[in-house]
Amino acid sequence: MEVLTATSLSSAELIELEDLYNAHNYHPLPVVLERGRGVYLWDVEGKRYYDFLSAYSAVNQGHCHPRLITALTEQAQKLTLTSRAFHNNLLGQYAAFVTAYFGYDRVLPMNTGVEAVETALKLCRKWAYQVKGIPEGQAKFIFVEGNFHGRTLGVISGSSAPESRGGFGPFLPGIEIVPYNDLNALESALRDPNTAGFLVEPIQGEAGVYVPEDGYLAGASGLCRKYNVLFIADEVQTGIARTGRLLACDHENVKPDILVLGKALSGGVLPVSAVLASDEIMLTLKPGEHGSTFGGNPLACAVATEALMIVEDEGLANNAEILGKYFRNRMRRLQEKRPDLISVVRGKGLLNAVVINDSEHGKTAWNICLNLAEKGLLAKPTHGNIIRFAPPLVINEAQMDDCCSVIEQVCMEYELD
Ligand code: PLP
Repeated sequence: MEVLTATSLSSAELIELEDLYNAHNYHPLPVVLERGRGVYLWDVEGKRYYDFLSAYSAVNQGHCHPRLITALTEQAQKLTLTSRAFHNNLLGQYAAFVTAYFGYDRVLPMNTGVEAVETALKLCRKWAYQVKGIPEGQAKFIFVEGNFHGRTLGVISGSSAPESRGGFGPFLPGIEIVPYNDLNALESALRDPNTAGFLVEPIQGEAGVYVPEDGYLAGASGLCRKYNVLFIADEVQTGIARTGRLLACDHENVKPDILVLGKALSGGVLPVSAVLASDEIMLTLKPGEHGSTFGGNPLACAVATEALMIVEDEGLANNAEILGKYFRNRMRRLQEKRPDLISVVRGKGLLNAVVINDSEHGKTAWNICLNLAEKGLLAKPTHGNIIRFAPPLVINEAQMDDCCSVIEQVCMEYELD
């Protein structure tokens, strides 16, 4: 059988192959990437782009960070997977490191973000039955409108997005959905004595970078404590320096009862996720009750340890804080010049969104992203008219300046029909 290699095919041919043989579950921008370094990506024709998506905030440390690739390749030559049927020499050291790093008693290692969210929900139910004393089978979760926690049946059961749910029922019972950023609605839901946990993204990334009002997270965490309900923070997208602090919850000095991490935990090198909690919560799980063949594998432990050290050594949270402010200032000045095109600029750190006045169901935002790509900057609309701008956190001031100029030029030249 003939083997097709990327070097022999053009972007158009490679897109056609995907179209013919891959599931149509995404609608990517028409670029085919083959190489990455730091903030840059290159397509198969050799064109260079600034990456302003960072694989949905997985590549906070920049593409192919040399320290990460060294950690990966050195470990890959020694041992990659043992399963948890046996111990491996890195899991204990990683667990000690990651729990100290985030200030928790214990970690439960998983792989993808959604698996970690599912794990957090299962753990929360165990705690609810064993510690809180909710009658078996009665535990309730509170989710918020507009959430995104991944694609499994469990978490889409709490989704309010028709495109996530349509055609996938029946769904998991025992979930109440309350409006985001609404403490009164949360308190009403918390009054049900069978409530086990409140699951929330500190900033809603996929929904379009919705930042709640100051005090929402602290208020929600306080209410959860009052009603003895676990505050579960899904920081899969917001965590690990993205919003200008190590965790987005740090902006309000909130410590979640259960912390869910993924994406940048490996710097985008392989799927690594984690659930962190106290002894009281985590030790409700006994051998055989939950697990994953790949969770806690030595390759993941080596990469995740290095990924977290890079975040600290390179001061990435601070860089995100400073350059995020700079970016929003530039975009707000652009908004003043093009109020017909841009309605809102919002975000925290380097998780930002520019909302496009789009009367054509996302056509304008899509066209702007195509124009940005042509000028060498990759970003993608979410929910039609919201463009998320989230570059790797290793971006420097000169590069950010360059990127702002590209966005300004594209928006200033854009002609609305
Ligand atoms: N939770 C949040 C907040 C996310 O943004 C995502 C992915 O975008 C997930 C969970 C799911 O992560 P994964 O795609 O790795 O399963």
